[in-house]
Amino acid sequence: MQGINTENITVDQMHYPAFTEAGIEADVLRLDRIHAVVSGNKWFKLRYYLDDFKTNGKKGILTFGGAWSNHIIATAAVCKQYGIESIGVIRGEEAAELSPTLIAARDYDMQLYFISRAHYKQKQVPAGLPVHDYYIIPEGGYGYKGMEGAATILDLVDKDPYTHICCAAGTGTMTAGLLHASTAGQQVTAVSVLKNNTGLEAAIQSLQPSSLAKLNIVHDYSFDGYAKYTTGLLQFMNDFYRHTTVPSDFVYTGKLFYALADLALKGYFPVNSKLLLIHSGGLQGNASLDKGTLIF
Ligand SMILES: *Cc1c(COP(=O)(O)O)cnc(C)c1O
Repeated sequence: MQGINTENITVDQMHYPAFTEAGIEADVLRLDRIHAVVSGNKWFKLRYYLDDFKTNGKKGILTFGGAWSNHIIATAAVCKQYGIESIGVIRGEEAAELSPTLIAARDYDMQLYFISRAHYKQKQVPAGLPVHDYYIIPEGGYGYKGMEGAATILDLVDKDPYTHICCAAGTGTMTAGLLHASTAGQQVTAVSVLKNNTGLEAAIQSLQPSSLAKLNIVHDYSFDGYAKYTTGLLQFMNDFYRHTTVPSDFVYTGKLFYALADLALKGYFPVNSKLLLIHSGGLQGNASLDKGTLIF
């Protein structure tokens, strides 16, 4: 398997009309370049859990996710790379046809266990699994170690020139890490990809209690829910790629870029703002779209 290579990460200047018209600059930190499937923020969120696992003598790693979960595939790939046994507890009954994400996870030797959505909600582990033998990583890598790992994302860049650090938010772990690592004068703008996720601020706050004044959560760009999209969103992603050569995914980074372009046009960012957009990866999820929908 191709290794994880953080040296491939670049900071690219983007020239997109909405940003230029608003008089702001936007650079993108290309975490998607580190690996084809362990793309982006998932590696950073996992790194300190892996370190912890290595010292505590468990047999393997167990984690949770849905059929298209970037976290599941990233965990599977990283465990394979380090020779760690991995178990994925998957939300929902096993479908007749597995998603490409789960097929890939299985190819990385992750053992998959499917549980009903109701049981998943209660974080129940299937009966018979020797849970205590496994090191458990929470869904999406949410937790203090995930936050600390995500904070190291900003070690990759000279962060000082930026007025705003902008990212997509699911569990909020990455957002909390960016809050932790950002400077006192910077704003962290998080675009929530879940519908009406009223618990997001509290989730971030419990990982990073002291920096909330820097946090701005934007809730209006979920496109009606997690992994939901419109043809308008897909057209935007193609247009964004045409102008910037930056590919995006329709679950996270597409919504992030869309939101920021729209907010820029609405005057949300003061003139001369300098934005750093975190490209958190996730491109493997585009495999669920019809071929040819996206031009990249
Ligand atoms: C998981 C993921 C996120 C969200 O990260 P959280 O720490 O859960 O908020 C953002 N972008 C991509 C591509 C992801 O896979």
